[in-house]
Amino acid sequence: MNATKAFAAQSSTSPLAPHDIPRREPQANDVQIDIMYCGVCHSDIHTARNEWGGTKYPCVPGHEIVGRVSAIGSNVTRFKVGDLAGIGCLVDSCRECDNCKQGLQQYCDNGIVGTYNGKTSDGTPHTFGGYSKQIVADESFVLHISDRLPLAGVAPLLCAGITTYSPLRHWKVGVGHKIGVLGLGGLGHMAVKLASSFGAEVTMISHSAHKEADAKRLGATHFLLSSDKGQMNKALKTFDFILNTVSAPHDYNTYLQLLKTNGTMICVGAPIEPAKIPSFSLIGQRRSLVGSLIGGIPETQEMLDYCAEKGITSDVEIIPIQQINEAYERMLKGDVKYRFVIDMQSL
Ligand code: NAP
Ligand code: ZN
Ligand code: ZN
Repeated sequence: MNATKAFAAQSSTSPLAPHDIPRREPQANDVQIDIMYCGVCHSDIHTARNEWGGTKYPCVPGHEIVGRVSAIGSNVTRFKVGDLAGIGCLVDSCRECDNCKQGLQQYCDNGIVGTYNGKTSDGTPHTFGGYSKQIVADESFVLHISDRLPLAGVAPLLCAGITTYSPLRHWKVGVGHKIGVLGLGGLGHMAVKLASSFGAEVTMISHSAHKEADAKRLGATHFLLSSDKGQMNKALKTFDFILNTVSAPHDYNTYLQLLKTNGTMICVGAPIEPAKIPSFSLIGQRRSLVGSLIGGIPETQEMLDYCAEKGITSDVEIIPIQQINEAYERMLKGDVKYRFVIDMQSL
């Protein structure tokens, strides 16, 4: 084992603080990455604070990881030392179930191994994420990163990017569709960029009036302020899709009403309380309410290649790791434009 510098939460109520973690020596199929940047996802907060339950401590969050390969195992063929490399939300899965065989590792029937808080068999207590100097993972779960884009802006693609790309592709959102993106945060701003690049007409639906100009700069054609009853009434039954990225408990019915007949709300946000949805919100207009989890490894690579080709990156605020607790508080207030990314040189 190698002792690796990291930032960890020791309990659901303690702030993140310096903590050394064990990392395995690279095994035959492993890639070791010196982490350069790690994005800060709202799931990091949910997990560090045990809001979904099941968090194991010490908890080292971080699953938007970009860095450079610093060692490889003897069987590794897809990477060499010095290559740029990325790790998203997954570092392993069973590799044998139907979903894994189709490259849908995120839906592994036998349980995914998350980049943090996941089960391990390498002698470490559980997986530790990207708020650390180095990470070691099987090459099958490591992504190739283009050198054409600024790397800090690429890191959030590994979760915020793929989590919005995957459902937009699955439901074939594009030319001729009107989509409302609900919530302008990390996921929301990537959804606006990606959906508009696919040719859809994008409306940003936000509860923050001051985000209008940014929403339009990011690619939205319209801005709908959810607290404005007049604007909301005008928007009733106008959308083919709503991509719901909201992290906090909210009334889904308010937004379901905005869907046309046969419209679909895609949930990617994961608030800690269950939503109350009377069937009347759905049956009157044959609406669908669906969900989507991150993306599999092949689709994550496809998304990274697409973004490299189109020049799409995340809008980031780069912070030293010592500001992580303050960054969490600011995210909870919706005060980030639009993803914090940790510069790991600060650790
Ligand atoms: P984020 O950057 O904090 O953005 C969340 C946005 O939600 C805020 O910017 C805000 O947008 C909106 N919001 C917050 N509180 C609200 C409220 N009370 N009512 C209405 N809107 C509110 O979070 P994120 O990193 O994008 O993550 C969003 C959610 O997705 C989290 O729950 C996260 O765990 C989940 N997630 C899911 C997956 C998946 O695979 N499905 C992957 C990653 C993350 P406005 O100010 O514009 O209203
Ligand atoms: Zn995430
Ligand atoms: Zn599987």
